[in-house]
Amino acid sequence: MSKLSRREALGMGALLAAPVFAGAQTLAGSGSKPDYAPDSIVVNGNVLTIDDRMPRAEAFAVKDGRFIAIGSSADIRNLAGKQTQVIDCERMTVTPGFIDAHCHPGRQQELYDVNADLRSIKEIQDALRERAAKTPPGYWINAFKFDDTKVKEKRLLSRKDLDAAVPDHPVIVMHRGGHTGFLNSKAFELAGITKDTPDPPGGRFWHDEKGELQGQVGDLALTKFEGVGKVETFTPEQERQRGEAAMVYQSKQLVACGLTTVHDAGAESDKITTYQALLARGELLHRAYVMAVGLNRDGLDAYQKLRDGGIRTGFGNEFVRIGGAKFVADGSASERTMRMSKPYPGKPNDYGIQVMDQKQTHEVVEDAHRHGWQVGIHANGDVAIDQVLNAYERVLKLWPHPDRRHRIEHCTLVNPDLLRRIRATGSIPTPFWTYVYYHGEKWAAYGEDNVRWMFAHRSFLDAGIPVPGASDYQPGPFEPLMALQSMVTRKDYAGRVWGANQKITVDEALRIATINGAHASYEENVKGSITVGKYADFVILEKDPHAVDPDTLKDIKIARTVVAGRTVYANA
Ligand SMILES: [Zn+2]
Repeated sequence: MSKLSRREALGMGALLAAPVFAGAQTLAGSGSKPDYAPDSIVVNGNVLTIDDRMPRAEAFAVKDGRFIAIGSSADIRNLAGKQTQVIDCERMTVTPGFIDAHCHPGRQQELYDVNADLRSIKEIQDALRERAAKTPPGYWINAFKFDDTKVKEKRLLSRKDLDAAVPDHPVIVMHRGGHTGFLNSKAFELAGITKDTPDPPGGRFWHDEKGELQGQVGDLALTKFEGVGKVETFTPEQERQRGEAAMVYQSKQLVACGLTTVHDAGAESDKITTYQALLARGELLHRAYVMAVGLNRDGLDAYQKLRDGGIRTGFGNEFVRIGGAKFVADGSASERTMRMSKPYPGKPNDYGIQVMDQKQTHEVVEDAHRHGWQVGIHANGDVAIDQVLNAYERVLKLWPHPDRRHRIEHCTLVNPDLLRRIRATGSIPTPFWTYVYYHGEKWAAYGEDNVRWMFAHRSFLDAGIPVPGASDYQPGPFEPLMALQSMVTRKDYAGRVWGANQKITVDEALRIATINGAHASYEENVKGSITVGKYADFVILEKDPHAVDPDTLKDIKIARTVVAGRTVYANA
């Protein structure tokens, strides 16, 4: 070994250490290696392995969907057989595949509803009007992805805006944040809601200065519109096709930006079936860790059904795996409705919206924990996070588990005491990773004192918490390179800085995007780094994230995305 360079020695060390490659040395030495030849080799790369035992390499080999050797280009070329595909990186950078630990992919609305991600209220009105012209009277017009801070008017939609565009159909335009919707007068009329209707528990009807309905409706108040008006109906076969078409469409988008695993943060039963159908047909390009929605405002109960069928967290295979049970405790960060201990600056009576109380939280956590489930509860504000931690602390004391990793979805606004308790319980926060960049202007509503403790990647890392990254798409964009830029710079799209104390390094951001994401689904032994024996999920980037201006990280192009050794995206 003394004649080998340090790099080669490391490469050979990795090779010899590989349990799945026992005997390789002998065969490679004899010149006879057809049975053991890799399916593909990747050479001449700047490989960032995210494995501390060998952080950098030039090349690796893949067989049967796993990494089988890592080292120098020369070592790895020696392993190739006649059938081996050779991928020459031309010195481009390779990282493990990116993992989004909280996303909502594959919604049918992406293909079939009105996309309100437009730049003016007039454009939204036009889009609604156009759809109404093609829709029979009395049927709902559904729109999604409205964002008050991205329209040139910089304001919320109003009931009157919607009435002006569509008077005869009930209309709902959901905010990108997903917790509030904007409805027209027809919708309120059909639901029998007037300006005097009181807010239901866990919900809100907003009013204008004159006390009239403004049009915005939050959280559980949205349930008052269920079953009113007419909705287009589909046969079960049509529903199945629509669901599958939406997921096929989205899976392509996810892998095109380098995501190889996506945690679906709340699937219903039919979506779990969709994943399986696409997997069987080879059309599921990414891996899914599927959190099952627990009984919620829409009456969805995939978790309860799976639980009763004997399924537990971790069931499934390497492509589609059942994750935690998903519940919601409070409002949202981007719609400025999360439940905080202090009122929103300038709004002395507004503490945000609480969806589940402490008693309900204890109940759902006890049930899922005792049935062998990981729990993931949406909790943005410090009050909601405290409540969720109370429940996790209680069950872990009463029914201890060596490594339960209950999750706090979003976990937006923290403080030193919450950080200590998250660490002590082994809980996993999944803070938004593209929000600072994409939603910057919204953080003014919280004030700098709060923003210093929001999406607190720096604080989580400093507290020793293996925090993953999460888009919460649709509310946040899912592009992981935008996420790296957002976390590293804490700058929004206009260059304004939000909570500079929470900046992290490129290396830390890469770990968040890979190995920490794997840890959130108990898969750190098979994913999240380029390590012999792990799944061959990787991304080739046109530039090294360390070598570019941090303000341009999001512009790095994805050259290729590979899942289980299969190229699922290539930038032609
Ligand atoms: Zn979510």
